[in-house]
Amino acid sequence: MRELDGRVAIVTGGTRGIGRAIAGELAGGGARVAVVATAEERAATVAAELEGDGHAGFGCDVSDPDACRALVARVEETLGATAILVNNAGITRDNILVRMKDEEWRAVLDTNLSGAFYLMRAVARGMMKRREGRIVNISSVVALTGNRGQSNYAAAKAALISLTKSVAQELASRGVLANAVAPGFIETDMTDALPEDVRTAMLGRVPLGRLGAPEDVARTVRFLVGPGASYITGQVVVVDGGMVM
Ligand code: NAP
Repeated sequence: MRELDGRVAIVTGGTRGIGRAIAGELAGGGARVAVVATAEERAATVAAELEGDGHAGFGCDVSDPDACRALVARVEETLGATAILVNNAGITRDNILVRMKDEEWRAVLDTNLSGAFYLMRAVARGMMKRREGRIVNISSVVALTGNRGQSNYAAAKAALISLTKSVAQELASRGVLANAVAPGFIETDMTDALPEDVRTAMLGRVPLGRLGAPEDVARTVRFLVGPGASYITGQVVVVDGGMVM
């Protein structure tokens, strides 16, 4: 028997990059994974590629509160009660403060912060009733340091950490644990878009001397939702090769 045997895990942004690796790790641990992305077809394709049976793909724009409520209802009808929620869906709309458009600010806050809030709210009652649940929110090291050109993204990711800590305090007595993971520079579509000189400069700041792989983050998430992390809640685990100490 594997450690997550049969548990239902919702992974948002599960079709690419870090989320795809998290879906793979949790499936490897025996979970039944609800892969979520904006396009249902793509989510279903990824779900079908995962190890083992009982996975399914769902389309949901996490920035829409009604869609989040409907998503949890659909997942629970299809796969059963949610035991694990990984809020990983995220976007960037980088710009310096004085040029940042309202839409860029709002899109990043709506997806990266409000999306996690809507989904935690939608699963929390059931988890509390069952006295079991694990929530992992994917933040970023820029939540801790700030970053030029990413005031929207850094603010959303920092708020996600205090949201996680508040939820962890509210739900701990009901056996529900909530933690955040703060990745550093991980090789995905999101970071592929950066210019070569920026990538080289970032690499120079990583003591371990390599960029992170999505699996580096995914293994941490698997640990946090598994039996080995049953006394860990309200924490931020930084996975960045030592970039921020
Ligand atoms: P990515 O490759 O760009 O993938 C983003 C995923 O989120 C996709 O599956 C995308 O699916 C989904 N998504 C975006 N907007 C969505 C929405 N409104 N509703 C539902 N799904 C949505 O990103 P990544 O690099 O793997 O990053 C994953 C998470 O880690 C993000 O929260 C990011 O901020 C964080 N992070 C990344 C790094 C890094 O270096 N890569 C570092 C620190 C933190 P569709 O486009 O198909 O909807």
